[in-house]
Amino acid sequence: MKVYNTLSRKKEEFVPLEEGKVKMYVCGPTVYNLIHIGNARPMIVFDTARRYMEYKGYEVEYVSNFTDVDDKIIKKAMEEGVSAQEISQRYIAECKKDMEALNVKPATVHPLATEEIGGMLDMISALIGKGYAYPAKDGTVYFRTRKFEGYGKLSHKNLDDLQAGHREIQVTGDGKEDPLDFVLWKPKKEGEPYWESPWCDGRPGWHIECSVMAKKYLGEEIDIHAGGEDLIFPHHENEIAQSEACSGKPFARYWLHNGFLNIDNRKMSKSEGNFFTVREIGEKYDLQVLRFFMLSAHYRSPLNFSGELMEAAKSGLERIVNGADSLRSLSSGANAAAMSPQEEEIWRGSGAFVEKFEAAMDDDFNTADGIAAVFELVKYANIHTGVASSKELAEKLYGRLAELCGVLGICVERKEEILDEEIERLIAERQAARKEKNFARADEIRGILLEKGILLEDTREGVKWKKA
Ligand code: AMP
Ligand code: ZN
Repeated sequence: MKVYNTLSRKKEEFVPLEEGKVKMYVCGPTVYNLIHIGNARPMIVFDTARRYMEYKGYEVEYVSNFTDVDDKIIKKAMEEGVSAQEISQRYIAECKKDMEALNVKPATVHPLATEEIGGMLDMISALIGKGYAYPAKDGTVYFRTRKFEGYGKLSHKNLDDLQAGHREIQVTGDGKEDPLDFVLWKPKKEGEPYWESPWCDGRPGWHIECSVMAKKYLGEEIDIHAGGEDLIFPHHENEIAQSEACSGKPFARYWLHNGFLNIDNRKMSKSEGNFFTVREIGEKYDLQVLRFFMLSAHYRSPLNFSGELMEAAKSGLERIVNGADSLRSLSSGANAAAMSPQEEEIWRGSGAFVEKFEAAMDDDFNTADGIAAVFELVKYANIHTGVASSKELAEKLYGRLAELCGVLGICVERKEEILDEEIERLIAERQAARKEKNFARADEIRGILLEKGILLEDTREGVKWKKA
């Protein structure tokens, strides 16, 4: 498997630190609002990378944080007259709902910056101890950028060309030695959340949060660090400086960055006001369509969002789901159980599309070509199956299609069917509860189903249900 590494600006063979395991960190959103579809791009593409590595047999430890202390969160809290924590908790919960609807798997750990302050104080102290950081008079702690030899190696910037990070809060305290130095810890302002520290009551800079959370949950050396391309500089450059100055070891082996999602060929961003939230798109489309749309381009390419492309994604996805549907109905209506020798040949032939899919994904997660292979498999199945097909062939082809789609995080079952399954599961759970004389739970389940518009009827043949 090859991945494009921003560090080397080359596609490199992926070799994990530990055989069979992948330690991966993906920078998560700052939670002060509903996420927009640009924020959803890294979630979807790196979730797909994770799924593909799992498909290949790797055990993936996937860590993705929530930045829950930040100027924008504080500003929003002040506007609403509530605590910053209330804002961040609210939007973490909303973000998790969106992730679920986008079929983004929960991370192995979703750490919160505010719960990792102790580790940040430790790392900052260690950096001061090694001479890589210093407190200024007002208690701000700065990283001594020029002291870290490799500074600029990720963004391929020359130190002299650099300017202080645009996402850094400008601290006017005196005592900053060099304009390139960036903030590790900053003093509190009136009304802001703060923590005690040896330098001042205050809060961490944004970059130190990720260095600390990656170290705590994955270790000093990790395989993959990922995020949107706007994070290359200064965020990831600064993370490298902090982590490597502290540990003396290379921090992440592979740095992966997704391209931007644009709208009308302009960068989609909250500050420009030209964005759609995932929620808004979810009102118009099944969010699988959004996922499919995102994966129809290579993750490193810029991608322009438009209604036309979403419609194209919708009909493409429909073609795949229809293909899966017809295989399923062929398998349930099939006369012959086992494959004929001729069908075995057809089955073997379908392996070519798996190879194509894998070759595409092995080439820096080329989901666009991966999807093309899935389309070819659908077409092949349509051509080579029919009413005379055996159950075995229809099932196997369905399984193959569902598996490849599963790597993309695309579910080929129809939504109603998922719902039916859920109903059946709840009914079974209710029956079990009744058997155990847990009538409270049984009633609760009846209530849950009623809320979903499902009426239960206890008959002699068992429980029947219908939609109200
Ligand atoms: P933020 O909440 O701004 O820190 O962003 C969270 C993640 O979303 C980061 O990895 C960003 O790089 C990414 N991101 C933000 N806007 C876009 C966009 N328009 N297209 C792609 N990725 C984006
Ligand atoms: Zn980060």
